[in-house]
Amino acid sequence: MSSAKGFLAGLAGRFIFRHGKVSAVTWLSEHFVRIDVEGAQLAGVKFVAGDKVQIFVGEDMRTYTPVEWSSEGLQPGGAASRMGKTFFVGYAHGTDTPGTKWLRALKVGDEAPLFGPRRSIDATDLPGPLVLIGDETSVAVAASLTRVKSDRHVTVLLEANQPDETKRVAEALGLKHVTVTARGKLDAALLAQLDVGATPIFTGRAATIQSLKQALRAQQRTVGGLTRAYWAEGKRGLD
Ligand SMILES: Cc1cc2nc3c(=O)[nH]c(=O)nc-3n(C[C@H](O)[C@H](O)[C@H](O)COP(=O)(O)OP(=O)(O)OC[C@H]3O[C@@H](n4cnc5c(N)ncnc54)[C@H](O)[C@@H]3O)c2cc1C
Repeated sequence: MSSAKGFLAGLAGRFIFRHGKVSAVTWLSEHFVRIDVEGAQLAGVKFVAGDKVQIFVGEDMRTYTPVEWSSEGLQPGGAASRMGKTFFVGYAHGTDTPGTKWLRALKVGDEAPLFGPRRSIDATDLPGPLVLIGDETSVAVAASLTRVKSDRHVTVLLEANQPDETKRVAEALGLKHVTVTARGKLDAALLAQLDVGATPIFTGRAATIQSLKQALRAQQRTVGGLTRAYWAEGKRGLD
């Protein structure tokens, strides 16, 4: 999102944003951080696994994926009033981008104005088992789909700059059927999943999605499912 859009969003923010506060910041590894946010304005929200939120990160906005969103709990002091809670997992990929700087600076008690949740990926009506394709930015959506669809098999295929780190974080978030490769190495694992009838959900890096789909088309494979690119080289705040 451009700074102009961020400015306009800022003007509208006091009316349409849900104002939460950061209740926990947990670094899961060198590059992945879990951010818990809670607040009365987060209560009573309709949440579908795969939804997105846009968050102010300084003067701009960036998009992240809530893993869970609940409206239970007590306010401090024990008052029986509704409180909403959510958490997401940020991948701090660089040192000087707005999103990364924000993730690295966050601390408990900080304001976290959220725009959303809004629909991004809704797997509710997709048939059969799912195969979620993505990268570090897809760990949260994978965890969310896996937690909600406990009755449906979700296989997760991720490419990553540091595969071991990404796999450890994915497993710590409860992902059991997860394969993490170096970048550009997902073709064979994806074909195997399509062969057993899994419906694909493409997320993560735009160029990888494009090249995987080109390879499938070259084999006369029909590409169904859903596609949401999460970032692209040279684009800022892709959404
Ligand atoms: C619907 C949706 C859901 C998303 N959910 C999540 C999530 O749950 N967790 C998460 O971490 N991210 C998520 N993302 C991706 C995140 O919004 C982008 O990575 C975003 O660009 C990060 O902002 P930034 O300020 O760090 O970089 P920007 O200022 O937006 O980008 C600057 C440059 O950094 C590079 N870049 C951006 N992202 C990456 C990356 N991941 N790896 C390597 N280089 C990159 C690009 O070259 C880009 O031109 C999601 C995006 C979308 C659209």
